[in-house]
Amino acid sequence: MISFYPGPSRVYDEIPNYVKDAYKKGILSINHRSDDFMRISERTIRLLKEKLDIPKTYTIFYTTSATECWEMIAQSLITGKSYHLYNGAFGQKWFDYTKRLQSGAIGLPFDREKKIETVGDTTFEAGSVICITQNETSNGTQVDNRTIKKIKKNNPQCLVAVDATSSMAGVSLNFAAADIWFASVQKCFGLPAGLGVMVCSPAAMNKIESVGEKAHYNSLAFVAEMMQRWQTPMTPNVLGIYLLMRVMEKVKPIAEIHKKTVARYNQWIDFFHGSKPLSHLITNEAVHSHTVIPVKADPELMISLKAKAVKKGLLLGEGYGDLKSSTFRIANFPALKKIEIEKLQQVLKTFL
Ligand SMILES: *Cc1c(COP(=O)(O)O)cnc(C)c1O
Repeated sequence: MISFYPGPSRVYDEIPNYVKDAYKKGILSINHRSDDFMRISERTIRLLKEKLDIPKTYTIFYTTSATECWEMIAQSLITGKSYHLYNGAFGQKWFDYTKRLQSGAIGLPFDREKKIETVGDTTFEAGSVICITQNETSNGTQVDNRTIKKIKKNNPQCLVAVDATSSMAGVSLNFAAADIWFASVQKCFGLPAGLGVMVCSPAAMNKIESVGEKAHYNSLAFVAEMMQRWQTPMTPNVLGIYLLMRVMEKVKPIAEIHKKTVARYNQWIDFFHGSKPLSHLITNEAVHSHTVIPVKADPELMISLKAKAVKKGLLLGEGYGDLKSSTFRIANFPALKKIEIEKLQQVLKTFL
């Protein structure tokens, strides 16, 4: 079954061979304090920076998931206020998780058909953290690099944190424009679930140190200390890190991947163009995500369409949250092959 779910999604074809290599090389039983592990970890981080175009001065941490990143930020980086600019279910969840840990969390929902330009002009309280969901997986919208840069420029005294879970490694992100970025690997990285990455600017690292929060096993102060030796406080997902290293060795630089992702997105837009029964959920193309395509359809039509796709070995993503019965989602992730997209379009064609 080929999964077009926007995460977990299709993994790269090479993954089974990489797992076999890991077994043969003894990596499945490796000690996480050993030199062998540190070499793998260092190389993985170096490759992430090279391939994704992350500034050398930034620090990268391993986490277990994007959800863990939400909590790590709330417990170790937010000391006063946090502003949550969101237009969908994932951004709202991040806000909800933060509220449970911090009393200063403020939700600033915005219309999913609109850019956050207007909110972007706001100046927020110094020392606070501004939280943005770059790619809202639930409704297929994104916040562009320019907007993120503008928000940071207007708020140099704040840290800007960006959830890029369903876009990192699929499109070019301007890491230099924000302070904290995170993603989990079961989306655009084309890897099995169970690993996340958090990318921190020098300013974020300074704040981690000055806050010095050490009450949790995953407190960023501990995590940062351990990462000086390419390690983690707990035994990490060593296989996941190894697979990430192998995938990062293999993938093209992000600028090339970006081009391909956008070309494929444009092709999907052309495909649905002019169809009445099937249309993109979001009318305003300027806010469309390039990696997640939400399609609005009549619930009955959707049932038969999904069933037909499954018969051909293609799994479509369900709508998310409130949009469950009125939309389905198509992942536009790099690991999906042209031939698989064509196969799916063959199925969908009869419903256009
Ligand atoms: C999938 C997703 C998450 C949650 O990821 P986990 O790895 O399950 O924690 C968070 N934010 C966004 C935008 C997502 O797409």
